[in-house]
Amino acid sequence: MPAHISSPAPRTGSLPERAGCGVCGEPGTAGNAQGALVADSSAIDPYDFAFDGRRYVVACCPEHMRTLVEEARAAWSAGEQWFGQLCRASLLNAMRDASLDEIRAHARLDDAALRAALEWNSARKAAALTLPGGQILPMRPVPASGC
Ligand SMILES: [Zn+2]
Repeated sequence: MPAHISSPAPRTGSLPERAGCGVCGEPGTAGNAQGALVADSSAIDPYDFAFDGRRYVVACCPEHMRTLVEEARAAWSAGEQWFGQLCRASLLNAMRDASLDEIRAHARLDDAALRAALEWNSARKAAALTLPGGQILPMRPVPASGC
């Protein structure tokens, strides 16, 4: 991967830096430690759609693994994953001067997914104004207030 390319959260495919439990940090005892892929809408593989949305976690015991899986499920946001896929597509050379609709098509998103991605971005405290490729993002229309 070229050094200038980065995804929102390039965590997919790599083991955690620390091999301790994701809940308590303990390594776990032999026969009790477990590892699993959990859902993570921020995990975008730099190259392959097939590896999006998953993150490897380790736990010291079945109870802490259950906690990690439940937390991961609760944190899942389809809009976040679609926004990450839009970001990845925006970095391709062929998308340099592309319209948002062209990037959407290259990211294999339909119009509803694009809307959800833009809404997810707009709802963030530090919403991105451009994609990583430099393309300008429309902000979600602000509902009319009062009057
Ligand atoms: Zn633990």
